[in-house]
Amino acid sequence: MKRPFELTDFPDMLREDLEVGRHPKRQRLEGPPVHTRSFLVQTTLEWKEGNETRKVNALLMLDSGASGAVLAQHFIDKHKIPLVKRVQPTQIYAANGKKIAGGTHYTTPVDMWIGKHVNKMNFDVLGLPDEGLRKHVGYMPMSWLTKHNPDIDWTLGTIKWRSTYCRKHCLPSTIKIEWMTEEQMLR
Ligand SMILES: [Zn+2]
Repeated sequence: MKRPFELTDFPDMLREDLEVGRHPKRQRLEGPPVHTRSFLVQTTLEWKEGNETRKVNALLMLDSGASGAVLAQHFIDKHKIPLVKRVQPTQIYAANGKKIAGGTHYTTPVDMWIGKHVNKMNFDVLGLPDEGLRKHVGYMPMSWLTKHNPDIDWTLGTIKWRSTYCRKHCLPSTIKIEWMTEEQMLR
């Protein structure tokens, strides 16, 4: 099946300066395997507003090097996700050492769904550029998935869920291991 779009359409903004345009995903397709440290995952964010539940899809970059969960200010504004002001603003830096605008607010607890797997989390709000539809609107560090503890293959861009936690809480009893491919993650 043809992918709706290529992963190479998505430069890793926080790393592009370091990788000088040599995108690992492209190398995987054309040359010897190279270990990547990030790929895109389609998530659904869910939060309460009064008695109502709000829900929106968010394409996030799962990044083993990211230090915290981040959503772009433009995305927050568009979907009116409730925020909390930090008592002490935090300064967040890109991998290239540049300061990123933001760090003054974070979201109230949001349920982040990846397939059947859910984490309650707060996202820092950063002034990431609006790159339009089909571009990622935030970052998620691997550490936020420790509860589900999936096996990540950074080279193939696949997630395998088979932890005791997932078998107990996320997966139907008939399924012992759940695989997600790039295609599934980007749907
Ligand atoms: Zn799970």
